[in-house]
Amino acid sequence: MNFKNIVGHEDIIRHFKGSIETGNISHAYIINGEADSGKKMLARAFARTLQCEEGATEPCGKCQSCIQALNMNHPDIITVTHEKTDVLSVNEIRQQIVDSIGIKPYKGKYKIYIVPDAQLMNEQAQNALLKTIEEPPEYGIIILITSNIDKLLPTVCSRCMVLNTKPVRERDMLEYLVKELGLTEDRAYFCLDFAQGNLGKAIKLAKNEEYSAIVDSVVSVLKKIHELDVDDLTTAVSHIEKFKLSIDDYMDLMMMWYRDVLMLKVTGNIDKLLFKQEYSTMKVQAGLMSFQDIEDKIDAITRAKERLAVHANFDVTMELLLLTLKEN
Ligand SMILES: [Zn+2]
Repeated sequence: MNFKNIVGHEDIIRHFKGSIETGNISHAYIINGEADSGKKMLARAFARTLQCEEGATEPCGKCQSCIQALNMNHPDIITVTHEKTDVLSVNEIRQQIVDSIGIKPYKGKYKIYIVPDAQLMNEQAQNALLKTIEEPPEYGIIILITSNIDKLLPTVCSRCMVLNTKPVRERDMLEYLVKELGLTEDRAYFCLDFAQGNLGKAIKLAKNEEYSAIVDSVVSVLKKIHELDVDDLTTAVSHIEKFKLSIDDYMDLMMMWYRDVLMLKVTGNIDKLLFKQEYSTMKVQAGLMSFQDIEDKIDAITRAKERLAVHANFDVTMELLLLTLKEN
């Protein structure tokens, strides 16, 4: 992946290229933005360009360094990993960064550490990293990638160059989805509306083979949510459980449903709806619910999503959620 293949993110790319041209490269970066928004891709393209033997503002793609970077086995581009899904521990930071950054790069001009999921570093881990960020060796570069910069200590943030991803322009995304991925325009628009400027999210949805089934399921559950009795709720939960592996997409689509209802209530305009074909049901629901009701439901989905992310009990979480969505 070169900068020129990246869709959107012009500001960040301009910043990276500018710093390469002027030689004014930071020792520590934070790339912040929502999941799947392209942060890792940007970090890798930057690392690859910095290590390229040609020293230009795009990687040449031909030198040994470029080839190794492309094959993900460049000895001086290190991606930090973590064993547990919910924490990046102090030992992992010590073993993979602090203890090895003092060893000079094997071949490159730099030794670059990419830290995905940096928001998972606990306080100890961040403090362990802080000293390295404060006094890095001349060749050391650390790129922290995070979907939640609020989880990083102010002392860490203040020593890093912070770059925030921005939504990708709609027409650029549409072009990519239609020309590169071969989606029909209808489906591309659906993915586009769903992803709200996040191309990675749109691609993930487009490539999800279960995609149509998930959309149908969300519609079938939410359409009749107010009529469900307790038995129906249990049936609905076991139905949703079939999509457990895509539960993030599922929950996002549920959220989009209520955004649609809200939009309809505020503007009465159907053009902007994601679930256009469900217009009549949505109109009824918009009449039944107050603004506060709708916002409460969106909040409830957000909270359920967070709980599932930390492995809360699936059935209990979903049952509670459906109860909240059902009540007025
Ligand atoms: Zn090269």
